[in-house]
Amino acid sequence: MIDLSRFIRDVPDFPRQGIVFKDITPLLSNPAALAESIRLLAARVAKPDAVVAIESRGFVFGTGLALHWGVPLVPARKFGKLPGKTVREVYSLEYGEDTLELHADALRAGQRVVVVDDLLATGGTAAATARLVEQLEASVAAFLFLIELKGLGGRAVLGSYPAEALLAYEVAEERPRA
Ligand code: AMP
Repeated sequence: MIDLSRFIRDVPDFPRQGIVFKDITPLLSNPAALAESIRLLAARVAKPDAVVAIESRGFVFGTGLALHWGVPLVPARKFGKLPGKTVREVYSLEYGEDTLELHADALRAGQRVVVVDDLLATGGTAAATARLVEQLEASVAAFLFLIELKGLGGRAVLGSYPAEALLAYEVAEERPRA
């Protein structure tokens, strides 16, 4: 068993003073560790009908999981990146707001999806993605994260949805943002 925490690098004061950024690039550079992270994530939940991956580091793990399960990969993208007809959700950032989109034809009613991102902090990004899935009348079977930052209320924001993370860290500082 590989200790995945060895492949997460803390970068203090990035992108702002007081934020400890969890850098996953050491994990990405190690094929055995990256493959292990996908295997461990996949083992946490049942195979869904589709994987919804959140831009942009969620794409890495979402792609691995979609290939592992042999199910469609659906990218949740920042506003203005998807060329087709989309559904949108606005969510709050520390200063201002941001918008995520899904292609309107990306999911069918009744499909059960797993939503994937690299990291759960306050939960705003993941919760907005769940609302997108529900706009398309699909449902969120579970959230999967490589890393959970505990102490920022993310789990409470995700409510009753199952949420799994491979690594957890206690933090007390204000919300970081990639
Ligand atoms: P949140 O919406 O607050 O749960 O933030 C989650 C999103 O912000 C994820 O897409 C993460 O990639 C990114 N993020 C938040 N905090 C950090 C952090 N400390 N290190 C790396 N990425 C972060």
